[in-house]
Amino acid sequence: MNILLTNATIVTQNPGREVLHGDLLIKENKIIEIGPSLGNPGVPEMDLSGLTVIPGLIQTHVHLCQTLFRNLADDLELLDWLTRYIWPLENHHTPESLGVSAQLGLSEMLSSGVTTILDMGAGRHMEMVFREMERSGVRGFSGKVMMDAGDQLYREETGEVLASTEALIQKWHGAAGGRIGYALAPRFVLTCSPELWAGVADLARKYDLIIHTHSSENRTELAIVKEQTGYSNVEFFVQEGLASPKLCLAHCIWLTDQEFEYLREYGINVLHCPAANLKLGSGYANIPRMLKMGVNVSLGSDGAPCNNNMDIFMDMRLAALIHKPNHGVASIKAQDVLDMATVFGAKTLGMEHQIGSIEPGKFADLTILDLNKVHANPVDNVVSQIVYSAQSRDVRHVMVDGEWVVREGIPRAYPDPSSLIAAARRVCAEIEQASL
Ligand SMILES: [Zn+2]
Repeated sequence: MNILLTNATIVTQNPGREVLHGDLLIKENKIIEIGPSLGNPGVPEMDLSGLTVIPGLIQTHVHLCQTLFRNLADDLELLDWLTRYIWPLENHHTPESLGVSAQLGLSEMLSSGVTTILDMGAGRHMEMVFREMERSGVRGFSGKVMMDAGDQLYREETGEVLASTEALIQKWHGAAGGRIGYALAPRFVLTCSPELWAGVADLARKYDLIIHTHSSENRTELAIVKEQTGYSNVEFFVQEGLASPKLCLAHCIWLTDQEFEYLREYGINVLHCPAANLKLGSGYANIPRMLKMGVNVSLGSDGAPCNNNMDIFMDMRLAALIHKPNHGVASIKAQDVLDMATVFGAKTLGMEHQIGSIEPGKFADLTILDLNKVHANPVDNVVSQIVYSAQSRDVRHVMVDGEWVVREGIPRAYPDPSSLIAAARRVCAEIEQASL
């Protein structure tokens, strides 16, 4: 759309990290100009006096297929959590239940200011996730979960997983005018054979794709990976020729000194999920060390059953707080965390020239906050206000690709929360009965 947003506080996240006051001109899906006063460029205007515009927030590790299972698997460590609850539940998804799960997650994320996601999809019925992403207006990447090893319920034959993945890539990579992309999603080392990893590397090269997987989340998982492969997780990816800036690793909690070096040397992206790491009792990723080394770190909520929200404001706050006792109060600052949720998230996705900051030429992905609330005032530093004090309920409007996807707190695609909740409860009860 063409619109002039006026009189706003604009947290640009540009290279100088400037905070400006003034107007923002949007034409079609791009940011055209920012300035103290842009006069009358002949487009409709919207007065944002008193409101704060930030770049659309970026969630780089989520599982839309798990949102339906929120509050179903508490107080368990990773491998029990997966084998006793998550895999049986995911295995019983129907196309309908997967669609509802995606709706629930997208509704929550969009209304909490997220404009771009990196989703680990589902093993089956993957079309439903892509269709819902397309309909919701979100920007993002997803991919069919790949598992061909171990004794998982929906383990598939290697050739089948690779063939169905390639068919999905051809249909969905670059869909919705480029708003939807494909990210390869081998689940983690323990569920994927060496042949599958080789196939993933081939597809990544052939189509220039991101590889999105889990790594070094839990000590038991690490011990089994070592026993089975002879390597730690990051070492394994280096050995398999998968290490590159296209590799996106969720968690990275249990690393050797050499593996920290590999992250830096190969430009591997780390997807930090502080709430999930705490809830599954997995541990503390050494994010301050990674940031100091120049490793790219972005944020994720992970799945609803291990968080149990998909609220990036909560994850920003946790990322800012949990490392201070171990590494010092100044080891991670509000600006670092806002960077992780914006410009660093864009870099994770290889989109640093297109999203992540408010600059002319970038896509018009914007989150507009009303911070005129008692819990967020008074204010000295707006970045500190956003990371430490703001809440997702302060999100007023959200724009993706120049289109409003949330107005006055209501997601365009999901205007009726009551019917969404009713559908979620119904299909969740059916799956629980069938699987647990
Ligand atoms: Zn995950």
